[in-house]
Amino acid sequence: MAELPQPIVGTRGADVAGPRNPEVEAQNPDIFVPPATDSGGIPSLKFPFAMAHNRLEDGGWAREVTIREMPSLKELAAVNMRLGPGVVRELHWHKEAEWAYVMSGRVRFYLVDENRQTLVEDLGPGDLWLAPAGFPHAIQGLEEGTEFLLVFNDGNFSENETLLITELFAHLPREVLAKNFGVPESAFDGTPDAEKYIFRMPVPAPLDEVRKQLGAAAMTGSYVFRASEIEPNSFPGGATKIIDSKLFPVTNMAALMIHLEPGGMREVHWHPDADEIQYYLSGKARMTVFDAVKNARTFDFVAGDVGYVPKTLAHYIENIGDEPVHVLNVFSKPEYKDISLNQWMALTPPDLVKGHLDVDEPLMSSLRQGYQPVVGK
Ligand code: MN
Ligand code: MN
Repeated sequence: MAELPQPIVGTRGADVAGPRNPEVEAQNPDIFVPPATDSGGIPSLKFPFAMAHNRLEDGGWAREVTIREMPSLKELAAVNMRLGPGVVRELHWHKEAEWAYVMSGRVRFYLVDENRQTLVEDLGPGDLWLAPAGFPHAIQGLEEGTEFLLVFNDGNFSENETLLITELFAHLPREVLAKNFGVPESAFDGTPDAEKYIFRMPVPAPLDEVRKQLGAAAMTGSYVFRASEIEPNSFPGGATKIIDSKLFPVTNMAALMIHLEPGGMREVHWHPDADEIQYYLSGKARMTVFDAVKNARTFDFVAGDVGYVPKTLAHYIENIGDEPVHVLNVFSKPEYKDISLNQWMALTPPDLVKGHLDVDEPLMSSLRQGYQPVVGK
């Protein structure tokens, strides 16, 4: 057996004499042996979906990372859901808005808005939808099934606490239902007495056919966005796409999609008004989060992990592996905003900067006023 790494750096640290979990240690090298610059008491800002309770249902599953999994999740929560071919996430609504990113397969999304417009759209990998709070919607896997990530704009959200059409019918008096629809009470003899939540149905008919069934209803496409068709902005070391309310007007959650080449890094920055939730799609990355006055903690991430950064706290994301890192950042505000450390210094009179940090060349001439969110090796 290969010798296990020990938490020893020079004269600091000592070997582990007690029980060990080498797999978890190996995935968290910067937790096991933190950089010497880490300090103080930043709470955990990482939770893997692999450690989230998985709700297995007929033909699909759902798992969530909320304030219950990670107490730092104040403004945002995440859900990862899989629906097999035809499998439906029941007609429902919730108190929070729902932002979605399709990861695999194809999915049909249904929504009705407050203007009585209806949406029926098919989406594929890289596409988004946004269900505003209170707007009823449903999700269905097409032939290949689908898997997607959902982000909600409240850390206290739970996928298990949504308002469901089945439960609504089960909890209204029969005579009220009869009066509401103008039908005899016997019309409701077959309605279920509990939620269906995720359940099998046949793969639905092609889009055109299904839309035709809605007759003269006003159709809308406003609540979906084909982010897969947007060209990223390239920089040395990687590329980014910002999808916020400027491009996708109905969204109240901005998104930044980041691609980092090996050695590439999302530069040191922070967000003045929004919490950031992160979902890692591929690769190996690390992030340090800095808070007043001398708090800093470094976290490691692989595909399927969720990270979090409370608003105004400085952070970077560094690719520390041999493969590209793809990570989604979703924010609790409609418009994307960030402050770059490098640009802040470049836009401050040089003598003032030098006087603070006791620096000179080559740092001063490396500062750049232009936007470059990703840097190379
Ligand atoms: Mn929903
Ligand atoms: Mn950020």
